[in-house]
Amino acid sequence: MTGEFHPPARILMGPGPSNVDPRVLLAMAKPMVGHLDPEFIRIMNNLQDLLRQVFGTKNPLTLPISGTGSAGMEAAFVNVVEPGDRVLVCIKGVFGERMADVAERCGAHLRTISAPWGEVFDLEAIQKELRGFQPKVLAIVHAETSTGVLQPLEELPAILKNNPDTLLLVDTVTSLGGHPVKVDEWGIDICYSGTQKCLSSPPGLAPITFSPKAADKIKKRSQKVQSFYFDMNILGKYWGSERTYHHTAPISMNYALLEALRIIGEEGLAPRHERHRRNHLALVQGIEAMGLSMLVPEPYRLWSLNAVSIPQGIDDPKLRKKLLDEYNLEIGGGLGALKGKIWRVGLMGYSSSEANVLYFLTALEQALREQGFEVPRGAGAIAAKEFFSKGK
Ligand SMILES: *Cc1c(COP(=O)(O)O)cnc(C)c1O
Repeated sequence: MTGEFHPPARILMGPGPSNVDPRVLLAMAKPMVGHLDPEFIRIMNNLQDLLRQVFGTKNPLTLPISGTGSAGMEAAFVNVVEPGDRVLVCIKGVFGERMADVAERCGAHLRTISAPWGEVFDLEAIQKELRGFQPKVLAIVHAETSTGVLQPLEELPAILKNNPDTLLLVDTVTSLGGHPVKVDEWGIDICYSGTQKCLSSPPGLAPITFSPKAADKIKKRSQKVQSFYFDMNILGKYWGSERTYHHTAPISMNYALLEALRIIGEEGLAPRHERHRRNHLALVQGIEAMGLSMLVPEPYRLWSLNAVSIPQGIDDPKLRKKLLDEYNLEIGGGLGALKGKIWRVGLMGYSSSEANVLYFLTALEQALREQGFEVPRGAGAIAAKEFFSKGK
């Protein structure tokens, strides 16, 4: 147990973490400063400005929570839900289920509605529940990583018009940085994400933003937030003008996120989204040319997470092990009801590249052929290459 430690340099095309730009890894090697150092406070201000840009918001209360995406989820619920508050959670996959679990632990008066896994919510169904249940919080996942579904949110403000007291809480862990997310325009009150998916920073921080309406509700709570660590009434002061100590910020994680957000700023949000869209479309062309199919119907597919149906007779764990062992390539398997039924192929942030699309399709073809599934030679990569060459 001596000498330098060398983890393998994988190609990460699963449901996260995604690969990280070397610039971001190097940022973590920069000198430590104190969490109240004036230089770190400047870094915090820059981070908050850049997070507001990617979230599409002017919300003052915008910051990275110390913890992974699930910590963002906890922070969202524990702050705005008091025991007995009516909370409506929309479930169409694993992360909607997790939201309901978290809301229940907050003592919410919980109601859930469900859509089949692999499908989106019909907004009329949500509207009907809103009318009858009059929830304090409506919670929904934008990009459901367990199914590859993108839930359109543009229409939600219109649907919430008759519920002025309802806070809209949205999980954008797998969309932020890969798909457009417009917190202010879509009337989102609480929005959280994670660093290791389309933002392509290592796991460890959860960007979150609260609208003035949500911030007001937190300030006027009748009971203390049950979590000290996530209490925005205290944490907000460290990230606000008072800078009072709450917990020691994970300095290097914040360096990494700052560098990742600077890279996003250099690329531009719109070109970044377009890159994710194109690489996704090329992957779909390749998958279909190989005689495979996508789980999710056309307009609702995530660009960042591609759910590919596993053909009959294929040994899923064996195939994924082969990709990892022989191609150094990680993809994800299905979760819950979709276990053994789909592969989850991530094209997130730094991992969303033309080369990765071609490499995955080529490796998959070999792995399928070795299990006796016949694919026309090179079909997937050829179709994807044709797609790429068209747009140039
Ligand atoms: C990954 C993910 C989470 C949880 O994030 P962790 O970083 O694993 O804690 C929550 N919601 C969605 C939609 C996710 O994809």
